Amino acid sequence: MSVRVVARIRPLLEKELNKDIIVHSASNNDGKSSNVVKIPNPKNESEEFSFTFNSVYDQPTTQEQLFSAEVNPHLKSLFNGVDVTIFAYGVTGTGKTHTMRGGLKLAERGVIPRLLSAVFRRAKRIAKDTEGDTTVSVALSYYEIYNDKVFDLLEPPEKRTPSGLPLRAEANGKTVVAGLSERPCEDLKDFERLYIEANNNRVTAATKLNAHSSRSHAILRVKLTQTTGDMVRESTASAIDLAGSEDNRRTDNGKERLVESAAINKSLFVLSQCIDAISRGEKRIPFRESKMTRILSLGQNNGITIMILNLAPIRSYHLDTLSSLNVSSRAKRIEVREIENEVVFKQAPRTNSGTSTGGMARQPLR
Ligand code: ADP
Ligand code: MG
Repeated sequence: MSVRVVARIRPLLEKELNKDIIVHSASNNDGKSSNVVKIPNPKNESEEFSFTFNSVYDQPTTQEQLFSAEVNPHLKSLFNGVDVTIFAYGVTGTGKTHTMRGGLKLAERGVIPRLLSAVFRRAKRIAKDTEGDTTVSVALSYYEIYNDKVFDLLEPPEKRTPSGLPLRAEANGKTVVAGLSERPCEDLKDFERLYIEANNNRVTAATKLNAHSSRSHAILRVKLTQTTGDMVRESTASAIDLAGSEDNRRTDNGKERLVESAAINKSLFVLSQCIDAISRGEKRIPFRESKMTRILSLGQNNGITIMILNLAPIRSYHLDTLSSLNVSSRAKRIEVREIENEVVFKQAPRTNSGTSTGGMARQPLR
């Protein structure tokens, strides 16, 4: 399996209604939605570039349509123990946060609240179908990577240490954030409360509100634990709202901003280098050069990865749009192994040996 790369073109905002639309999804003769994005060559406007993706969602696409087509089909795998990662990539202002978080109104809710809602619905059904033999618990972690430092968003900003949290490689090859908090989450109400509170933490910790959120990567991790008797199956769904991919050399940056954009540019630059290296089949992938790429570990982890490329259709984004199209169209060639996580058995307390650990033993199911 490859990374699934889909493009979403956002509609014009009210203030853009008189603007020139230059990004189109190519229409197919058969009336089916196309998977090609077309954009003029900035050096020769009579020429058009085409980029092919696994799917292209044009301006009228609703939040519900995107979720049903791209995320919902993977819920089954997630409950079978496969990790799922969904990340939004694109220039600031193209709809990454809209896609991942969305608005408060029901129809405007993004991928994240819809994912949680679907997880809770499925968990309830499993409990019912197994007459309570299988229980599903959900725990949430939420953090941001800012200037290559990791900050827990479920902790109040006062508790942040300036250096942030370290990363740690686990025995199974996954990279985790050491000391990251994890909150149990019973239902959608619980989730919304935590999520809103955490997003507020993100804002109050920021000095420059709008600038901050476009300059940090926000990562939500939903851990699913399914327990049947002494069998425990864990899997995670990660939803990532990446920092804006625009070229900050073209924007007017103050000194502090320059430090930030160097770190942000670096992690996104490393991401594009990783994508290139993997798609060329190279052995050395420069994952370790930024925290974001270590965590994302594209093509290294076993699971389903969906990259959503957000695009604004208007001319003022032209060069940045082209560069993000270039990066993401190469990402399609990345191989991802879809492998179920091992089932873990709870160790029964041993009465005769006297060494009751109460811990977990890891053994393959088959
Ligand atoms: P980003 O997170 O990439 O910087 P935002 O998600 O903040 O971009 O989107 C920029 C603006 O465009 C916001 O006002 C958002 O509400 C609006 N927007 C983005 N995508 C859509 C969409 N599909 N439909 C309606 N409005 C959208
Ligand atoms: Mg945003």
